[in-house]
Amino acid sequence: MFFFAVIMALYFTSLNSGSNGNCYYVGTKTDAVLIDVGLSCRETEKRMQKLGLSMKTVKAIFVSHEHGDHIKGVSTLANKYSLPVYITAKTAKYGPRLISHISKIFTANKPVAIGDLLINPFLKSHDAADPHSFTISHKGVTIGVFTDIGKVCDELIRHFKLCHAVFLEANYDAAMLENGKYPLHLKNRIRGGEGHLSNKEALDLFTTHRSPFLSHLLLSHLSKENNSPEMVEALFNAHANGVKITVASRYQSSGVFSVSNDNAGDIPAIIQKPVQMGLFD
Ligand SMILES: [Zn+2]
Ligand SMILES: [Zn+2]
Repeated sequence: MFFFAVIMALYFTSLNSGSNGNCYYVGTKTDAVLIDVGLSCRETEKRMQKLGLSMKTVKAIFVSHEHGDHIKGVSTLANKYSLPVYITAKTAKYGPRLISHISKIFTANKPVAIGDLLINPFLKSHDAADPHSFTISHKGVTIGVFTDIGKVCDELIRHFKLCHAVFLEANYDAAMLENGKYPLHLKNRIRGGEGHLSNKEALDLFTTHRSPFLSHLLLSHLSKENNSPEMVEALFNAHANGVKITVASRYQSSGVFSVSNDNAGDIPAIIQKPVQMGLFD
């Protein structure tokens, strides 16, 4: 069984993270949002159910950008549960086919209230039409969802410093990418300013700008080809200083974590033992 142990907390999980699909859940006991739905509707439902999370709690979907690994299941899930989909006008042009009455336009730096949550979108550097990162806040507790980022900009640093927990992209090891089998144009796309964050760039952000109250770091959107979960986890653990480091998997959910204002850093993760889903190779 699955119990929420902490009142007034934010709960969060990665349902999947990587180029094969991204879906991040953040919410209180009553209200939650999904940041991107890059899994199929069915798989999203299945993984939430396995974690004891109810779709009834989900009040909205936010779309970070139109790449397939972030929007695959958006339309079906939104239509099935009549969920509003928050998206920018430019992203909507290229993005998921939505029934217009459920799509709502957001703009950078204009926070959106969803139940007892406040979602703040801000621009990021990535090769999409209008890509955004998000922070999700509730009663002074803030969680960041920062993936698909070509470079660390001042906005990212400003928001990173406010977070109690962060999904942070650590996409590739520079040497593995350089020596790997990807064609040069793809290597340059990934490591260019509109691609993805390297382990080193993510580590520098973490060690230089983390807040004293940061308690959880979920390393996200790892490349299958150009990274190693064990290696990147060890790299960050060497600098963790009490922050719980977890790799968000590209094969299964991360389990549910929680953080609250009272005792950020002390709350044990509420984790259901992850089960290999065997969906992707
Ligand atoms: Zn992506
Ligand atoms: Zn992308």
